[in-house]
Amino acid sequence: MQPSLEKLRKFFRLEHENKYANTAIIGGLAKMLDFWEGEARADGVAEEVIQAVVARLRSYDKLSPEGRAESLKGLWKRIGETYPEAGQKPKVPNQPPMGNQPPRLPKAEQQPDQSLDSPPAIPQQEKPAYQPKPRPAPMPRSDAVPGAKTSQTPAALNAELTVLQGVGPRHAETLAQLGMKTLGDMLYYFPRRYEDYSQLKPIQSLMYGDVVTALGTVQSVHSRPVRGGKMTIIEVVISDTTGALRLSYFNQPWVANLLKQGDAIAVSGKVDQYLGRLVMNSPDWEPVEVENLHTARIVPIYSLTEKITQKRIRGLMNQVVSHWAPAVVDALPEKIRLGARLVSLSEALMQAHFPVSQDRLKAARERLAFDEIFYLQMGVLRQKRDWKSVEGRRFAVQTEWLDSRTAGLPFELTSAQKKSLEEIRADLDSGKPMNRLVQGDVGSGKTVVAALAASIVVSNGAQAAIMAPTSILAEQHFRNFTNLLAGEGGLQESEICLLVGSTPDIRKEEIRQGLADGSVKVVIGTHAVIEPDVLFKDLQFIVIDEQHRFGVEQRKELRSKGTNPHLLVMTATPIPRSLALTVFGDLDISVIDEMPVGRQPVSTHVLRPQERERAFTLIRGQIRDGRQAFIVYPLIDESEKIEARAAVDDFEVLSKQIFPKLKLGLLHGRMKPAEKEEVMAKFRDKEFDILVSTTVVEVGVDVPNSTVMLIEGADRFGLAQLHQLRGRVGRGAEQSYCLLIPTHEDAAENERLQAMAQTNSGFELADLDLKTRGPGEFLGTRQAGFATTLKMASITDVALIEKARGQAQALFERDPYLQMPEHSLLAESFERFWGTGKGDVS
Ligand code: ADP
Ligand code: MG
Repeated sequence: MQPSLEKLRKFFRLEHENKYANTAIIGGLAKMLDFWEGEARADGVAEEVIQAVVARLRSYDKLSPEGRAESLKGLWKRIGETYPEAGQKPKVPNQPPMGNQPPRLPKAEQQPDQSLDSPPAIPQQEKPAYQPKPRPAPMPRSDAVPGAKTSQTPAALNAELTVLQGVGPRHAETLAQLGMKTLGDMLYYFPRRYEDYSQLKPIQSLMYGDVVTALGTVQSVHSRPVRGGKMTIIEVVISDTTGALRLSYFNQPWVANLLKQGDAIAVSGKVDQYLGRLVMNSPDWEPVEVENLHTARIVPIYSLTEKITQKRIRGLMNQVVSHWAPAVVDALPEKIRLGARLVSLSEALMQAHFPVSQDRLKAARERLAFDEIFYLQMGVLRQKRDWKSVEGRRFAVQTEWLDSRTAGLPFELTSAQKKSLEEIRADLDSGKPMNRLVQGDVGSGKTVVAALAASIVVSNGAQAAIMAPTSILAEQHFRNFTNLLAGEGGLQESEICLLVGSTPDIRKEEIRQGLADGSVKVVIGTHAVIEPDVLFKDLQFIVIDEQHRFGVEQRKELRSKGTNPHLLVMTATPIPRSLALTVFGDLDISVIDEMPVGRQPVSTHVLRPQERERAFTLIRGQIRDGRQAFIVYPLIDESEKIEARAAVDDFEVLSKQIFPKLKLGLLHGRMKPAEKEEVMAKFRDKEFDILVSTTVVEVGVDVPNSTVMLIEGADRFGLAQLHQLRGRVGRGAEQSYCLLIPTHEDAAENERLQAMAQTNSGFELADLDLKTRGPGEFLGTRQAGFATTLKMASITDVALIEKARGQAQALFERDPYLQMPEHSLLAESFERFWGTGKGDVS
């Protein structure tokens, strides 16, 4: 199956696992179109299929969860008609959703077939910690139209579309599928892109290297086989009155069916040359509606379903925009609007649909984007004010006491760690509940900071809870915390407990008892910690590790087990500054931007599949020197068996043929938690030289003696995942290696893999990921919710974000409750934007 379809399926599955909350990708599934459409074309996915995907995903966020389920299933069925292999039910074993593909099963324990139609059952023994619940909607609501639907705005904006000339119930239904139910919705249904016919060049004057739109009439369409008939090239010649231009479409046979001699088309792309003549390779094209050329020079292109044409929707838009946009009341106070140098809302709405010039379009987009970020920022500021308005218990310790704790560590804290610890210490003594995000790259040493913070609270007699996304990680924290907190002058070992899904019932009961009567001071665990029957005597401090693995609800649940407890959330997800400002504006942020001394960057190499032996040689050498290695496999569906190398299959080969003299352990997600822990423990205790694993080792696992991370099928992983995996090595003083082997030789040039080889910095990688793929991958559930209504704004636009944030802050200082008369419109819009739900603070 084409990688782009594979990707689609992956996100659909994830979405299914997220109960169709539209959280599988940040900003909602529609956001994936930003990159998917292009990828799908590059993969040669049939144009009708692409259009079907575009149409469905565009309207996805407007649907109810049931509607979404329907929509995705229908879409997948549609894809199956063109690509039968996609329609086949892939064999996907049961697996808690982790945001990546599930592992393969050893043959004996295979589960029944599953596909989008049959939801993956949650394994009984351990309910996944990180399954996001359908969120109540504390985040901006998708039906909110800032500024447009206030009571001062003409009531007609709430009118149904059937009031429009020529729109009957059937058309209204079609438009509703696109998310337009009212006239106000239409105003905010922005074009997907624009065709700028004002920049048209006659064919005669095209130059090599130009990126242009040209207009012409199709003269001929020919298809010719290349590479011994394996591929086809479609050659199209178009001409205008000045000359002719050749277009070639490589392996896109459908183009031949879509273009006919005599069609007028506009093509956009880069002018190239071939054998001395100018050509365009696979330019975008679309049929030209001649009247548009005369009426508007910059023509909006809307996302559509099959049931409506561009021409028709433009006509309707024209009716709505010309009539109603001028009547819209601008909720943004004049003072702010002028301060931020923004055009009026009416102007913005008109120009966004039917721009007179590129400049005015730009100003319109800026204004609309500002609104979105501004409301978001106001929301996070309100949340911050809310949580700061309650009391938090004060916890203070003597500096000498804390110093003696840190002196007991086997290492010196880095100055970044010290700074974070001081910030936390101040929060704990502030009388307000702490709400702090500690952000630090993989391996920067967040755990010890959290543990020291916990010691401050616990030494004052209160209780602390630490929640991690996997039992492996919880167990590791349990050991670390025990080392740090127990012993002389500290806690009894019995006062620190591990509570995970696999903890025996009798033991669970004991722990619950101990937490309820206060004899247990610290509990470290997975989601098991937030089960309803876990009650605390006096919970005052909460740590949530790898926060992006948890849903808002889960964090809330844990918090509700204490009275305004202090909260520390930790993330190794490097968040670029612009993003942090947008989505974590309500939290205080500490950044651990420094690695412990003696760490060397992990030497990272991309190897071609046929160079695998080199990797094995390196591993043997490292093991001879007493080190250990990870070999990680992507999690693969049965249907891709031919291509895939999977942990379970290869384990045999690796242990019998490649490394017959070494001890290998196997770890995969289908194993019971207890088995996983046993394997990890053995690896940690050096009973295994090599750990062959699926991505279950991804998060947080710390075995400093391992120096090689070999990743098979590396092109199948996202950048964030690769970086996390690499973070498993390079934790000791030894030089470590990360070897990336893609599935195919071609993929060795894969941009992500090359980026990995170039930098060790998670921040740089995150930035790159944002730029190349949009804010999907490095982010977790929280961020996804925030971006839901960002239609115009890009969370990578730092300048805009800072401007909006500055204005929001200034306003908040003047009038935090928006009570001044001149802010009444704004207050109303703001409430609409955020809905009645109060956002969660973590
Ligand atoms: P992460 O930030 O990824 O959670 P960990 O807390 O797991 O990182 O720490 C990674 C490793 O670094 C652990 O083995 C830990 O003991 C070690 N470590 C933490 N701080 C320091 C330090 N200041 N100096 C040396 N090693 C440290
Ligand atoms: Mg960690």
